[in-house]
Amino acid sequence: MLTVGEANAAILAAMPAAKQEMISVAAANGRVLQQAVVAERDQPPFDRVMMDGIAIAHTEFAAGRRQFPIQALQAAGDPALELQGGNCIEIMTGASLPDGSDCIVPVERITVDDGIAGIEAGYVAEQRQFIHARGSDHAKGAELLTPGTRISPMDIAIIASCGLTEVAVSAAPTIRVISTGNELVPPGEPIAPHQIRMSNGPALVALLEKHGFTDSRHDHIVDDEKVLRTRIADHLDAANVLILSGGVSMGKADYVPQVLADLGVDVVFHKISQRPGKPMWFGIGKNGQAVFALPGNPVSALVCCRQYVVTALNAAAGLRAKPPEFASLAQEYVFKPQLTCLLPVKLVSAVGGQTLAMPAPTNTSGDFASLSGTDGYVELALESTTFKVGTGVPLHRW
Ligand code: AMP
Ligand code: MG
Repeated sequence: MLTVGEANAAILAAMPAAKQEMISVAAANGRVLQQAVVAERDQPPFDRVMMDGIAIAHTEFAAGRRQFPIQALQAAGDPALELQGGNCIEIMTGASLPDGSDCIVPVERITVDDGIAGIEAGYVAEQRQFIHARGSDHAKGAELLTPGTRISPMDIAIIASCGLTEVAVSAAPTIRVISTGNELVPPGEPIAPHQIRMSNGPALVALLEKHGFTDSRHDHIVDDEKVLRTRIADHLDAANVLILSGGVSMGKADYVPQVLADLGVDVVFHKISQRPGKPMWFGIGKNGQAVFALPGNPVSALVCCRQYVVTALNAAAGLRAKPPEFASLAQEYVFKPQLTCLLPVKLVSAVGGQTLAMPAPTNTSGDFASLSGTDGYVELALESTTFKVGTGVPLHRW
């Protein structure tokens, strides 16, 4: 049986990289960039005026002049004017610094009388004040975004500022989420006492969506080998990622591993030394489809989806890996089985800045209602049984 780390490494090694596509900047938020974005021009592209006021030559101010005849008005978007002698130019925030001027006096520090701007008595103006110098943020050609960046709203500003209308991103995977089980009944339909509401499907779709994977459709298949074979074959044709829940344990109706093998999906592993989620199965289809078969227990399905599926989809998209995150256990926790425990937690921020993880154990891996309000789960090492207060543990946020 593979460990958590081995299972993750095996999936990452087997996952095919996503293809590239060009998309409009308007649709790029949240996608993973596959190109470098370089500065179109110096930033700012000209000496940019930072205050509404007047532009003057500082030598005139230094020589004692406080009265400046207004030569002209120059707004943002106007070409730079040429300042003459002891005059001033009325200037607006965002305008290009007039030639011959090197000092902006804010409008709050002047009074205007009969076309002459007078500077407040005692006001000290410094040379180049309120001027955002050309190229002081970055130079033309600077690499502002690197491949592997998940595009944020701030990155959208950068891309737009570089004059791009489209960018190369990794193609979004086409995903099928498949719930298996005779006992499952969708919400909205009548239900008998021996049946179970089908909750994994919408939960897995929502978890994927939260991580930016929005192209997923849900299907329900009964525990019938023939039906499973036909329907999974169709899904393998239509999608490049399959996420099944249920039917991977050792029960007589757990046909999923055999059906997948029959359809030419090569098993990479079956079972991981962890709880919840031990029965998980992973394989690669004939055309490189990634097939994650998760246990049906809702807590197991969600933890395995976050731990393995989301990680794998991010890696396939070329997303730059973030440094691992840790939290400090807020309560002692004892876990005796020789398995890695993936323990749901609620996070609390300590005054000192530490992230504290409050265990929120579920009754069983079927107790999905206990997951509400949890922020993620921590990884308690297979080798230990008692995890003391203050132990630093790897944290995975939902
Ligand atoms: P299985 O992995 O198929 O043996 O299922 C384990 C447990 O999870 C059983 O109690 C199932 O009824 C339950 N289960 C399986 N699939 C779902 C689902 N889609 N939604 C809610 N519960 C499920
Ligand atoms: Mg089942």
